[in-house]
Amino acid sequence: MDLQSIDTVLMPRTRAELPAWSSDTAMLGGGTWLFSEPQPTIRRLVDLTSLGWENLAVDAAGLHIAATCTIAALSRFAAPADWPGADLIGLCCEALLGSFKIWNAATVGGNICLALPAGPMTALAAALEGVATVWCPDGGERRLPVANFVLGERRTALAEGEILRSVSLPRAALQRRFAFRRMSLTPNGRSAALVIGARDRDGSLRLTLTAATTRPVCVLFPAPPSPSELVARIDAAAGGAGPWHDDIHGDPAWRRHLSLHFAEEIRRELSGP
Ligand SMILES: Cc1cc2nc3c(=O)[nH]c(=O)nc-3n(C[C@H](O)[C@H](O)[C@H](O)COP(=O)(O)OP(=O)(O)OC[C@H]3O[C@@H](n4cnc5c(N)ncnc54)[C@H](O)[C@@H]3O)c2cc1C
Repeated sequence: MDLQSIDTVLMPRTRAELPAWSSDTAMLGGGTWLFSEPQPTIRRLVDLTSLGWENLAVDAAGLHIAATCTIAALSRFAAPADWPGADLIGLCCEALLGSFKIWNAATVGGNICLALPAGPMTALAAALEGVATVWCPDGGERRLPVANFVLGERRTALAEGEILRSVSLPRAALQRRFAFRRMSLTPNGRSAALVIGARDRDGSLRLTLTAATTRPVCVLFPAPPSPSELVARIDAAAGGAGPWHDDIHGDPAWRRHLSLHFAEEIRRELSGP
């Protein structure tokens, strides 16, 4: 839709050209959400895609994904053969059930910064221990785990004027075995529960719950737990009724039930050698 309130669109080429923050400004990723509803308080857009960030880079540390990399570009990433965890990338990209246009415009950074519970890039990055690099308005930068970046529905750890620059997925996480489960209320609906398990060579099991919860819930077990320990630890990490999400895509009790069911399936699947 046309945004009638916008009078300025800035296209910075360098960090130095970024404007000073003001409350009537929004960072523009792919614009698939920004242009999907009225933004009456926004008068200025800063198009981050004009900064020309390289979409993807692989080095000894792992995979670095620019915030402006589109879901479509990420889905085409050809991972090294010894990165089984990279298969999660395609599964998470496909969990964003948008049209061809959405897939080719929506960015990884936009998905994470929008902080919807069903954000599949949040799920991917939290499950693979992704680290967000954030540009601060004073010219510095800071890093934090993506699992701590999304604080709740439409709430992130970004302070005023901060920009998500990139997400780095560590090589060790990409080398883990994983299992993926996802369910939605309708065949082509938004994710209602999404659970990812990753088993390390040291025997530890990491479970990441999103979509059913308003923020990523990550639980680490030194070794695969018993079924009862699994439920107890997830409920403890979820903090009671707190983060189970409630909207038209599913009620909280159903989402908790699905998440625990998937977690148990994953526990069994990944418990073997
Ligand atoms: C048909 C359709 C289906 C959708 N399905 C899903 C779905 O299944 N799951 C889901 O999670 N979402 C879904 N969405 C919502 C949204 O389109 C996606 O979350 C998309 O990934 C947003 O990315 P974007 O790059 O277009 O973000 P934009 O619309 O450009 O921005 C989204 C928000 O993030 C901010 N932002 C963007 N990039 C940065 C950055 N680098 N640093 C700081 N702030 C930034 C913007 O200011 C804005 O507040 C859907 C939308 C549509 C229209």
